[in-house]
Amino acid sequence: MREINPIEAIQDPIFKIITQAAQNIGVDCYVIGGFVRDFLLKRGTPKDIDVVAVGRGIELAQEVATLFPQKTKVQVFKNYGTAMVKTSDIELEFVGARRESYRKNSRNPIVEDGTLQDDQNRRDFTINALAISLNKDSLGFLLDPFNGLQDLEEGIIRTPLDADITYSDDPLRMMRAIRFATQLNFTIEEKSLQAITRNKDRIKIISKERIVDELHKILSSKTPSIGFKLLLQTGLLKIILPELTALQGIEEKEGQKHKDNFWHTLEVVDNIATATDDVWLRWSALLHDIGKAPTKRFDKKIGWTFHGHEFVGSKMVYKLFKRLHMPLNDKMKFVQKLVLMSSRPIVLAQDIVTDSAVRRLIFDAGDHVDDLMTLCEADITTKNPKKFQKYHNNFKIVRQKIVEVEERDHVRNFQPPVSGEEIMKIFNLKPSREIGIIKDAIKEAILEGEISNEYEAAYQFMLEQGKKLGLKAVK
Ligand code: ATP
Ligand code: MG
Repeated sequence: MREINPIEAIQDPIFKIITQAAQNIGVDCYVIGGFVRDFLLKRGTPKDIDVVAVGRGIELAQEVATLFPQKTKVQVFKNYGTAMVKTSDIELEFVGARRESYRKNSRNPIVEDGTLQDDQNRRDFTINALAISLNKDSLGFLLDPFNGLQDLEEGIIRTPLDADITYSDDPLRMMRAIRFATQLNFTIEEKSLQAITRNKDRIKIISKERIVDELHKILSSKTPSIGFKLLLQTGLLKIILPELTALQGIEEKEGQKHKDNFWHTLEVVDNIATATDDVWLRWSALLHDIGKAPTKRFDKKIGWTFHGHEFVGSKMVYKLFKRLHMPLNDKMKFVQKLVLMSSRPIVLAQDIVTDSAVRRLIFDAGDHVDDLMTLCEADITTKNPKKFQKYHNNFKIVRQKIVEVEERDHVRNFQPPVSGEEIMKIFNLKPSREIGIIKDAIKEAILEGEISNEYEAAYQFMLEQGKKLGLKAVK
């Protein structure tokens, strides 16, 4: 990393404009935070750039906007003393350098104007406090008062100031520490880990939305388990997602053990992260077994059971989403459905796969059948290589059958081939129970493969069913 020259970070023409604007109004300014960090880590150049001005940040933003060749709007957030300048591909955020002091019950500090050093002091981590000068006489100079560069090289999350104060002042930083450790595969320094553990209960003053935001970022990482292990270790998980910590532990009765469903869940989440970027599918993996804690029983004959855990789990998804102020919309319904159906393909994978079982799976899962298969494949965590192979092979067969059966039978978004109105007309019926019975019989016959999913076959079948019910066709 040493060979990187920070001046390379500020080659985009946009920085020339900022330098000019700063000179015009006579303030010093620096690019700071995530942009510098990600550049030095070669994570690419981020689209959001934070600029700190010693003095008038909002004025600097306005000056920058006037220097842009195209007309550009400045969004001013007076309360925060910040201003945003957006172009089609970059978001510039300007802030005046500040000193912060905190009160016990809020993560929102009292703010005063300060120096660059004050501003670096208020940053959460040494790797987020790196600044590069945008001033003519020191252009491209890296200002690194806390050895953030070394921490970047060694992969360490460390706070610039006392860790207890840092996390207690703004407990969101506990989530951020764990999130960065997960995204960057960094280690949180021991002092920080202990401070987070000591201050864990202060997470309660942070809004649910911000916590969820960090959870999304942890879940969206390459190896989400890193974050969940840290959340567990520091005690935060028990506060945020007690449904997950309840899955911990192995019990033994009469020589029979069940697996530790917490560690199993983390394996499933890491597995699914290799198969999809869809954060909601990743949530489904995280929550797929939460119903196992409240449904766990020991049966003398069959051993440990988690009967109905999928149904119970899908109900728990709603409560969990509601508690965390997550959307109660189609995303939640998707997660519920996947949790509810999470064991369905597994039964298929252990057995010979029949067409009718596949048809029922497609019928029930609808458009989510592929996602469901992805979840179930991720769910295979057996350490027995023979079983591992066998389950994967069977799922491959299930996937092939899904394609074949769907091409032939079109049950994915099932529409009855004979409508209720038609049944009423043919048997001269008013709306009545019989219509439901006949429709249901047609659907069942199609799913069982007794008749094909076409009008002619369904029509004949309907006539037979009517006859059985003692109905007469009028046509
Ligand atoms: P990313 O954008 O990838 O989430 P980032 O480091 O840019 O990472 P932002 O939330 O955009 O994170 O914040 C920009 C910078 O502001 C950070 O790099 C850090 O210096 C500072 N910062 C953000 N949140 C806090 C906080 N809660 N406490 C202290 N400093 C913070
Ligand atoms: Mg950022």
